[in-house]
Amino acid sequence: MSLNALVDVNCPHCQKQFVENAKLIRAGGSAWCPECEQLFALDETNEAIRKVLDAAKAARRRRKDRLNDLKQRWADPPPQAATPADTPRTLTEVLSVLDALLLRLDDGKDLVKAKDDKAA
Ligand SMILES: [Zn+2]
Repeated sequence: MSLNALVDVNCPHCQKQFVENAKLIRAGGSAWCPECEQLFALDETNEAIRKVLDAAKAARRRRKDRLNDLKQRWADPPPQAATPADTPRTLTEVLSVLDALLLRLDDGKDLVKAKDDKAA
């Protein structure tokens, strides 16, 4: 995706098509053909030119909309990760399970005792 709004222009001299920055395609202005290297007026009364002018206008609007959309996204706060209310409790449970596992590794015989100590 180009940063610039681009538009296809047909050269009235050589009939070749080239791509121009929509920013430069304005009614009453002119365009330069890279094929035959001729400058031609962007005359609104010319049907083909008017279509190009309309396409350029639409391309500029789309680009503006896209930029506004991006700005809007940046302005919005980042989406919050859904945090279940019971996460701390769950985390504590996980830690206590790990604790129990470590205690079992330390001394399997004292597992029940260790649990009792904790509860006390
Ligand atoms: Zn040309």
